[in-house]
Parts: sequence; C-alpha cells; structure tokens
Amino acid sequence: MTDFAMQTSFHVHSPTCGCPAEARASGETDKRPRVVIVGAGFGGLSAARALAKANVRVTLVDRRNHHLFQPLLYQVATAGLSPSQIATPIRTILRRQENAEVLLGTVTGVDTERQHAVLASEHGGHRINYDYLVLATGARHSYFGRDEWEEFAPGLKSLEDAIELRKRILLAFERAELEQDEEARRRLLTFVVIGAGPTGVEMAGAIAELARRALASDFRSIDPRAARVLLVEAGPRTLATFPEELSAYTEKALTCLGVELMLTSKVTGIDAHGVTLDGARMIPSACVVWAAGVAASPVAKWLNVEADRAGRVSVQWDLSIPSHPDIFVIGDCALAKDKKSRPLPGLAPVAKQQGEHVGRLISKITRWRGVPRPVFRYKDYGALATIGRKIAIADFGKIKLRGLLGWLMWCLAHVYFLIGFRNRFSVAIDWAWSYLTFERGARLITGSVEAAQPAPIAGNVAERRAA
Ligand SMILES: Cc1cc2nc3c(=O)[nH]c(=O)nc-3n(C[C@H](O)[C@H](O)[C@H](O)COP(=O)(O)OP(=O)(O)OC[C@H]3O[C@@H](n4cnc5c(N)ncnc54)[C@H](O)[C@@H]3O)c2cc1C
Repeated sequence: MTDFAMQTSFHVHSPTCGCPAEARASGETDKRPRVVIVGAGFGGLSAARALAKANVRVTLVDRRNHHLFQPLLYQVATAGLSPSQIATPIRTILRRQENAEVLLGTVTGVDTERQHAVLASEHGGHRINYDYLVLATGARHSYFGRDEWEEFAPGLKSLEDAIELRKRILLAFERAELEQDEEARRRLLTFVVIGAGPTGVEMAGAIAELARRALASDFRSIDPRAARVLLVEAGPRTLATFPEELSAYTEKALTCLGVELMLTSKVTGIDAHGVTLDGARMIPSACVVWAAGVAASPVAKWLNVEADRAGRVSVQWDLSIPSHPDIFVIGDCALAKDKKSRPLPGLAPVAKQQGEHVGRLISKITRWRGVPRPVFRYKDYGALATIGRKIAIADFGKIKLRGLLGWLMWCLAHVYFLIGFRNRFSVAIDWAWSYLTFERGARLITGSVEAAQPAPIAGNVAERRAA
C-alpha cells in the first residue's frame, strides 16, 4: 500500500471523533468512492479482489485476521492438518492490492441512512462510512432453538471449533486408556456425529479412520479399533443434496469404514451423558459433534429487513437489497435464487461467484453512471464430498465419480482452491504422507487438560464463542 493510501484511507468515525457523520469525507482527501466489505470469507474476499483495478477505495473488515478454508476444517478437527495449513492472514492476501485496506473488527450494525457500518464497542464503537456496502458475514451453527446443546455437541465453523473438537476426540481415547470401568470406557469410546450432510459424513469417516488406522497400535489398555462411530440423521438418507445412487454408495462406504448409520432418527436431547434419540433411546457418549444446522449471521437485523427461516436476507437479481441499491448481501447470509426460483445452496463457489459479480458490478457503476446492472447467474460446476482415504463422490451432472477417482478429483480441487502456494504444497505433501503411512501428523491436544477427570469435557461455550 502506498503512503498516500495509508494516510488517507484509514479514517473511521467514532462517537467521539467529532466528525459530523454526514460529512463522510471529513478529514479525508481521497475522493474515490469507498466500498466497505464486511467478512473476508469466500464471498468478501472475492469481491475485494474483483475490485483490484477499480477506481475505488476498498475497506475489508473481519472479526478475525485470517481467511479460513472451511471445507478442510474437519481435517483439523481429526488431526489430519494443522490450523495454519487452512488459514491465511487477510493482510497477506491483499498485500499487493494497493486500493485495499484491512481492518480487524466485529461489525454489529449498519446505519443505512448515514451510510455507516458500526463496529462493536470493544473496537471503539467506530463507524466506517461507505458509498457501497457488501455484507458477506456467512453463517453460524443453529441448534434449532436448543442452544443448551452446544456445550455438549460443538459444531465446526471456526479454527477454535476445530481445535476444541480435536481435543475432545483425542482426550476421549486418552481417558479411556485410564478408565477401569467397562461401561464408562465404552461411553468414552462412543462418538456420535449428528447430521449426515457433507460435514457429518466427512467427520464420521475421518473419526473412524483415526480410530482404526492412525491410533490403532498406540495404546496399551484399550483397542482404539473398538471405538463406535455413529452417524445420526433425521432424514432417510445421507448427503440429501446428492443423487440417490451416490448416497447409497456413501452409506455402503461408511459401513465398510465401521461407521454405524442411524437414519430416520431424530435427536431429542443432548447432555453430559450422551444423546437421546426419538425421545427414548439414549446413546451414552462423551464426544458428540453437531453437523446438523446453520443459520445466517444477523445481517437481516442490522438492515431491519425480513429474513427466511435460516436468517438469510432476500436479495434482488443483482444481489442488492430492495430500496438500497448501495448495499449488497452475498454468500451464506443471502437468499438468492436460480433461474427456476430455487434458493442457491450455501456453498463456497456460490459465495465466490457472488463476490466476483458484486465486485465487477461496483467497478462498472462507479465508472459509468446509469449503466444497467447485470443479473447474477450462478454457474454450477458440480459437487464433491469425501468419505475417507481413497473414497469420495463427485457429481458433475451426467458424469458421476466415486471411489478413488472421486477422491483424486476431491484432493485436486481442494488443493487448487486453497490460498497460497505454501498451504497448497504442505497440504499436498501431508496428504501424500498419510496416504502412504495412515498417519495423522497433527495429533495435538492443546489447552488445559484436567487429567483423570472423566468426560464430559464441557468446555466453556461463552469463552469459545468470544475467542
Ligand atoms: C465445516 C464446513 C465444511 C464445508 N465444506 C464445504 C465444501 O466442501 N464445499 C463447499 O462448497 N462449501 C463448503 N462449506 C460451505 C462454505 O464454506 C460456505 O458456503 C462459505 O464459506 C460461505 O462463504 P461466505 O463468504 O458467505 O462466508 P464465510 O466464508 O463463512 O466468511 C464469513 C466471514 O465473515 C466474518 N464475519 C462474520 N461475522 C462478522 C462480523 N459481525 N463482523 C466482521 N466479520 C464477520 C467471519 O470471520 C468470516 O471471515 C463448508 C462449511 C463448513 C462450516
């Protein structure tokens, strides 16, 4: 970033800064339109990059300092990769983009009248003025109104979540090694994954492989291969968004890995003892993983507009919101529809393409006033899901892959889309190594370990959320 840009682009309003809010450029000499992007996930980052050559100032705000490659979070949770292999500092990514600045802060609201994004009080309650605002804050877990379950069944959305799950999974084996009581030991070695979408399938397959391969000969009192891994799903099949034949293949492959499938089973309770199904059956377990539901971040509340049941904001054909052509909502927090009026899925390619669209659109309308806004059309290139080592499925419409071929395609796609050469290289090497040796190199238990204390390892949800 040039000195000029550094000096002129950082101005944010604070309640005490004395700037009249309306005088947006007060104290600033840069007259270029300012595009504020909230969220540096797949959507926000691609919007920022698409604006690289535009005559605008880009301010990218995120509550974390890194962009996270969420599709590989389950590998961190199951000790296959370490956190730094799937996360990259946002400043590093945008280092060479001279019209962009990065701010670390949590946005808590939007003042649409004054055109301000408002930061949380712990970030000084600053207000960042915008000419165009792109909201790309993604989604979080949803426990369908049963938030008390989170303590016992964490989900997988951030690096903190993945590290916490890794700790719970590895600690369960450690505690079982110490445990004398057979029933308590069985409970420690029972892992329940709730939700058989792609994340649930990946988690269940990876825990089963960890137990049966990587840990198999590392313990003396227990046999890790005896661990039970249960995949619970309320619906009738796994991977409901994939064609039925690929679901059937997935179920067979999971069973071969030793995962017990519990389809058409509704979770009605989760506590320190385990999981209750259909109001009656209790499964004692010390390690439960939630992969069942997501809800959009509270963008609808900030904008004071209606949201669907998942909290997503209905956007127009150009991804702006009604009555506010200067505000765009993209990615997991947007409800955008395809040509047949079906809602677009919460997937990385959707967020990325939307980010690129909005970036190009802003670039165009800031160059030529009155130019018509293009319609957003999602290009679906297919879907992939992995089940375990050498087993994945890929759905490219007429072409469907499974087994080793699907897995190679899955590996290639994920390495290709990772950000940064170092991450791509190190992930490829790690995968090749564990392919040959079955080893999992990141088997680290971090944070406090209250030794000898039997599960549950409840942790502190408030602390994790705040982290
Ligand atoms: C475990 C898991 C596995 C997945 N696997 C796949 C897969 O295999 N393939 C696939 O296509 N998709 C997958 N997805 C979905 C995919 O990751 C999302 O669809 C995608 O990340 C959405 O992009 P986004 O930009 O909308 O949000 P995100 O990528 O979630 O980014 C949101 C950003 O906003 C920031 N943020 C949130 N709130 C605030 C705030 N108030 N203030 C400031 N910053 C904020 C966050 O820190 C984050 O950086 C997976 C998701 C998960 C959780």
